[in-house]
Amino acid sequence: MSQDAEWRCTECSKLLGVLQHKRIHLRFAGGHQYLVALPVSTVCRRCGVLNEAPEELVSRRSHGTHGSHG
Ligand SMILES: [Zn+2]
Repeated sequence: MSQDAEWRCTECSKLLGVLQHKRIHLRFAGGHQYLVALPVSTVCRRCGVLNEAPEELVSRRSHGTHGSHG
């Protein structure tokens, strides 16, 4: 039940990467993959817009706003 935070293009909502253990997992065509730490930016493959990963993507997890009652 892993709810990975998705990092999507602000312009076309294409999936750019997935948050994994406080790093962003980027996947590119051809099988290239990268694990990068914030701050990070990448260009959308679809529309070419430069996206900067929001820090809240990572901080959101550590705080855990969803109060889970045992
Ligand atoms: Zn895009």
